[in-house]
Amino acid sequence: MPAPWMPGLIKDPGTGAGYNAGRNSMQFVVLHDTGGTNSYQICKDGRPGYNSSLCQILVPKQGTPWQFTEIDAECYHIGSSSDYDHDGQPDDFNTWAPGIEVERLQGDPLTDSQIGWLGKIVAWLHDEWGVPVVHFAGPFGAVEQFRGFVNHRDIHPNPDGLSPEEWDRVVATIAAPPAAVVPLEDELMNITHIACPDGPNKGIWAFFEIAGKPAYRRLSTSVNAVTGNARAVIYEPVTFGGFLAALQKQGAIDCNG
Ligand SMILES: [Zn+2]
Repeated sequence: MPAPWMPGLIKDPGTGAGYNAGRNSMQFVVLHDTGGTNSYQICKDGRPGYNSSLCQILVPKQGTPWQFTEIDAECYHIGSSSDYDHDGQPDDFNTWAPGIEVERLQGDPLTDSQIGWLGKIVAWLHDEWGVPVVHFAGPFGAVEQFRGFVNHRDIHPNPDGLSPEEWDRVVATIAAPPAAVVPLEDELMNITHIACPDGPNKGIWAFFEIAGKPAYRRLSTSVNAVTGNARAVIYEPVTFGGFLAALQKQGAIDCNG
């Protein structure tokens, strides 16, 4: 059984701890903004009269996040159940997924602290719980078969979640383990995106999936006067050689995209 509490976070049991409202199946993970400035109490203990917290993890603007319940406990972060996936059945996604709340008002940029902690949380969810490092890109509600990370706005009429650029910045913080996965010459892979982070992981990185598993490879350690992230390149399944050939044909990697 994977560990339900993430090492390094502040373990601070709230109303939903001890599986007070039951469990969620950990099929995917939902990314939220609080839309507030101090959501500690409401996240930890939930709304009055409810038997669970409003989120499993709260990431403040600065410093160490709190974890209020076991990651696979049920919390009420998504909202009322509705048939958002249009299969004729109302879905209570709270029983499918934990929620990560980022403390910010709509439109606030993520702080460096939040980006770093989100990277650690994403890495832990991947390593400990096998959640693929993949950001859901729609269509709305079509998450029945999806495993990975989903914005709240993609499964409920709320506006919150991470932009593709923010997701890339989070993933870039965990992109440099000692040995990157190197695909075999003839292995087919799906390119998911290209990232060109600055800082210690500076360079051009390709992220891809091989047989459903996320992988990555650093293509270059320099970024020629470009920063930021690009995710415009989505290829059909190709071999790594085919991918490089396609890049060469394109002439340059657009990391300003
Ligand atoms: Zn939300």
